Amino acid sequence: MAPQLDWSSLASGSFTLSGLRFGDGQEGGLKVENGTFAAIGGDEAGHAAQGWLCLPALVESHVHLDKTFLGAPWQPHLPGSAVAERIKLEKLAQQQLGLTIEERGARLVEQELRHGTGFMRTHVDIDAEIGLRHFEVVAEIRRRYADRLDMQIVAFPQSGILASPGTAELLDRALAEGANLIGGLDPAGIDNDPVEHLDIVFGLAEKHGKDVDIHLHEGGPLGVFELDLICDRAEKFGLAGKVTVSHAYCLGQIAPEEVQRIGGRLATAGVAILTAVPPTSMPPVAVLHALGVTVVAASDNIRDAWAPFGNGDVLNRAQMAAYQQTLDTDDGLAFAFDLVTHNAARALRLDGYGLAPGNSADFVLVEAETLAEAVAAPPARRVTFKRGRKVAELPAASN
Ligand SMILES: [Zn+2]
Repeated sequence: MAPQLDWSSLASGSFTLSGLRFGDGQEGGLKVENGTFAAIGGDEAGHAAQGWLCLPALVESHVHLDKTFLGAPWQPHLPGSAVAERIKLEKLAQQQLGLTIEERGARLVEQELRHGTGFMRTHVDIDAEIGLRHFEVVAEIRRRYADRLDMQIVAFPQSGILASPGTAELLDRALAEGANLIGGLDPAGIDNDPVEHLDIVFGLAEKHGKDVDIHLHEGGPLGVFELDLICDRAEKFGLAGKVTVSHAYCLGQIAPEEVQRIGGRLATAGVAILTAVPPTSMPPVAVLHALGVTVVAASDNIRDAWAPFGNGDVLNRAQMAAYQQTLDTDDGLAFAFDLVTHNAARALRLDGYGLAPGNSADFVLVEAETLAEAVAAPPARRVTFKRGRKVAELPAASN
């Protein structure tokens, strides 16, 4: 069993750990000075940390802090097939919960921190009825946790843009008031006009100099048609490396030759693909990666009106991706780990991410023998550090 570390002496943001293991199999120490990595993998003497595997902070690239029911009593999942129907059910469920969005969202942030998340991208619902209310609450959560977690907020038109008149102006305001990205949603199915929907989304990205992250559930040839429209606009607006498409189920539904074509297109246009590891129609992440596409995995809905599943652990999501796509060798498991760390950091454009001297000391210690084991069986014991300070642990400290 990995030893309990003496946290009181590690609270200053400057300390040395020795005897750690790293994801590449090497053993060594870790020196942190003023919240920054000063040395990694050397033989410096410090607090004995044998039995702990040191990993870069995990990246939760897609979550909905304003949707989760966490903290409220268990909510039975209500069936509802169409997206529009689910949006209605969600509003109803949200009104019946005893807790505020701030309470539930903060609960999810705490859970993510305990699992080792150091970076998060959350979508926030904006429509004519909600206005900027959810955005303001989540921005407040971001302020509250700023010393423990770096958070990006996506202004997300959950009810469509054209289908919910006034939403385009609200998105515009959210971007002016601190949203980091502009979102989009099923341009054909929700707004019935993919070209107009995407023109509004990319127009706002251009106006505010922001990145783009679009929910695209639409399948088959329609989904691929929309991916091409998105690539056209990523190229036209010079947004290579700044656009993510979340879900892209269509990539899991088309012939291999077509995956080759559209995959090549996504790579060239610099459009990343994010999957929440659905039970069917998951994009073939290894094939897309080989084509040069940035592929990412994340939780998406956690215990909300859309899904009763999830616990705020992206290692769990990496495990599911590895299981689902038979990434079961050590190399395969390491690739699955990249989906929630290095690849995710590229999609989120995190500067100075990872275990390297000079980077911010954002890391997680997990009780596992190797990186492959940490993905195959996500560890129950973890300690999370942000800028060289311990911010959370699993199981939660009892005090
Ligand atoms: Zn989502």
